[in-house]
Amino acid sequence: MDDWFEKIAGSEKFNYLKSVPKPKVGWFSVSVPEEIFSAAGLLPFRITGDMADNTNQAGAALSNNYCSYVLSCLSEGLDNVYEFVDGVVFSDACDMRKRMYEVWVKNVKTEYHFFYEMSKAFSQTGRVYFRSQMQELVQSLRTHFNCEITNAQLRSAIALHNETRRLLQRVYELRKKGECCLNGKDVAAIIKAATVANKEEFNTRLSSLLEEIKPNSKQTKSLRVLFTGSYFDNPKIIEAVENSGAVIVCEDLSNGVKYLEGQIAENDDPLGAISDYYYFKSSCARIIDTDIRIDHMLKLVHEYNADAVIYFSLKFCDTNLMDFPYVQSRLNQENIPVLLVEGEHHSINIENLKTRIETFIQTRLY
Ligand code: SF4
Repeated sequence: MDDWFEKIAGSEKFNYLKSVPKPKVGWFSVSVPEEIFSAAGLLPFRITGDMADNTNQAGAALSNNYCSYVLSCLSEGLDNVYEFVDGVVFSDACDMRKRMYEVWVKNVKTEYHFFYEMSKAFSQTGRVYFRSQMQELVQSLRTHFNCEITNAQLRSAIALHNETRRLLQRVYELRKKGECCLNGKDVAAIIKAATVANKEEFNTRLSSLLEEIKPNSKQTKSLRVLFTGSYFDNPKIIEAVENSGAVIVCEDLSNGVKYLEGQIAENDDPLGAISDYYYFKSSCARIIDTDIRIDHMLKLVHEYNADAVIYFSLKFCDTNLMDFPYVQSRLNQENIPVLLVEGEHHSINIENLKTRIETFIQTRLY
């Protein structure tokens, strides 16, 4: 695979961002309407906390029993990693992220901030309220960045991001059919690069890659695994799973299908279409009703013909940990085995997890 994706997702992420001649706005949750930022001529990118060496400062500002994703992201902010960034957008995707916002706005030098709320239940009132917040976002970007955001610009941004989703969906279609020669690490790098790169460039790169991909004809016996749970992109876990005889066929995660599912209607009311897409999209445990989330996960299990599920939760992620017993009971009803893996965002002791992962996979293979 073209190593551009891996570089943009990893070691070259910050150099790449600095090289793009556009104002940059960081985001955390896949409920953020990237299209609005693109329409304004900005570069939206995901903050993932990869550069945080230690989280002591963030732990002192919040508490050490916060999830390590939040602590890592805040640590980067407190360490001035984002000095080159023009703004950051936050949502109440969970309480920990809301607290991070409160500390960030007081302590991190970022000129522009925007915060919006998400509701757990879908309703017409919630939908209208969400739309009003998107309108406020548009207005605040116009004022702060002194830019235009017209309907034509919004429509063009929708078309661009729809193309990104369509290309990413093609990768997942190959995995669905068992024809994908990319491994779990490759796909994780592609998704992560999509959340960082200029979408025009990303689309060109991924189109070329899709042209080059040859269907995988090797028919080795593998356990087809679906990942669900908290945000995670730790290559050590992905490797541990795939080296144990499994193939990762789908990530029901914010750096998986939750980022690329669906399309935004390209109609006469572009802001309404963007707003509805993000309001109704499948999102993380805190935002979406638990049964809707589990029904959606089970639909993916069947569509991707998954034999087993790995439920990854970051330590102290109450929303995901609290849901696990119910998720497990729903999977048990369908005789789908599930393994709970609890870990940290980056500093993970893989040796402890490896044995559990290997045992889970190998006992189901033979
Ligand atoms: S992993 Fe859990 S606690 Fe951490 S930000 Fe996500 S939902 Fe919130």
